[in-house]
Amino acid sequence: MVKKISIVVPCYNEQEALPLFYEEICKIADKMKKVEFEFLFVDDGSHDETLSICRNFAKKDRRIRYISFSRNFGKEAAIYAGLEHTTGDYVATMDADLQDPPYLLIEMYDLIQKEDYDCVGTRRVTRKGEPPIRSFFARCFYKLINKLSKVEMVDGARDFRLMTRQMVDAILSMKEYNRYSKGLFSFVGFKTKWLEYENVERVAGTTKWSFWKLLMYAMDGIIAFSTAPLSIAVFVGILFCVVSFIMILVIVVKTLCFGDPVGGWPSMVCIMFFLSGIQLFCMGVMGAYLSKTYLETKNRPIYIIKETERDQR
Ligand code: UDP
Ligand code: MG
Repeated sequence: MVKKISIVVPCYNEQEALPLFYEEICKIADKMKKVEFEFLFVDDGSHDETLSICRNFAKKDRRIRYISFSRNFGKEAAIYAGLEHTTGDYVATMDADLQDPPYLLIEMYDLIQKEDYDCVGTRRVTRKGEPPIRSFFARCFYKLINKLSKVEMVDGARDFRLMTRQMVDAILSMKEYNRYSKGLFSFVGFKTKWLEYENVERVAGTTKWSFWKLLMYAMDGIIAFSTAPLSIAVFVGILFCVVSFIMILVIVVKTLCFGDPVGGWPSMVCIMFFLSGIQLFCMGVMGAYLSKTYLETKNRPIYIIKETERDQR
């Protein structure tokens, strides 16, 4: 039986990159004669011509399907929607900007077919073309999250991967609203092979990630996959109780032995500031978890579809 590969491509304002991507991916599809393809473009509420490009593609090429969101829901939502609508035996997710080299798909498919893997992922071993400060923080983030979380996050892992239907179903069974897909992919387990490649720069358009957005994303990742910050708050609380107890003892003994000269106001103010800082910080940590729980309990849809290729076929 002919196997089918579905390729999910999240697109947000990718009018420049999309035609180039389509051209490249078609070349690869032509090389892989024994497989059927399905391309699923997920237009994540783009403000440019992305949607009309998708419409045109779908008119010309029966393999192409698209989903268009009612607004921008973010890449994680786009990937989720894409995975939900695919029909292939294998599913690949890849970016529209050709930063995920399509030629790797051939090797990935070979590996998943012939060897006993459920998923072939890709990781970039260099971060060429990226600001050094960003690479530095990215490295620190991976070190930190791997210490804090039981789920392993692979440094440099891209969202470009080929998975079996079984793994896709496992991912889809996690219906959480705050989706941190790097973690979700590891959480489900399965045997994953990592292919390494050198970083490639975007062919066209600009990245949607600012430093600030990345920082927020990193925090979301930690909150989604670790409760260690809450334990750290408890630990800091206990530590300060012990320290204050020792300080009380020292002051009582000092007062009894040397009398009670009034002094130490500046140090007192410093201590007050320090402790209230710690308290606010710990409350903030709790608040961060609470807010995620709040959003999760609302059970809002992860995405809302406005149009698909079926509307024009
Ligand atoms: N993307 C998306 N929704 C968003 C932001 C990005 O669907 O809100 C898509 C984007 O079109 C691209 C992929 O996610 O196909 C990766 O985005 P980008 O290239 O900006 O990220 P980077 O490669 O710099 O991490
Ligand atoms: Mg990119």
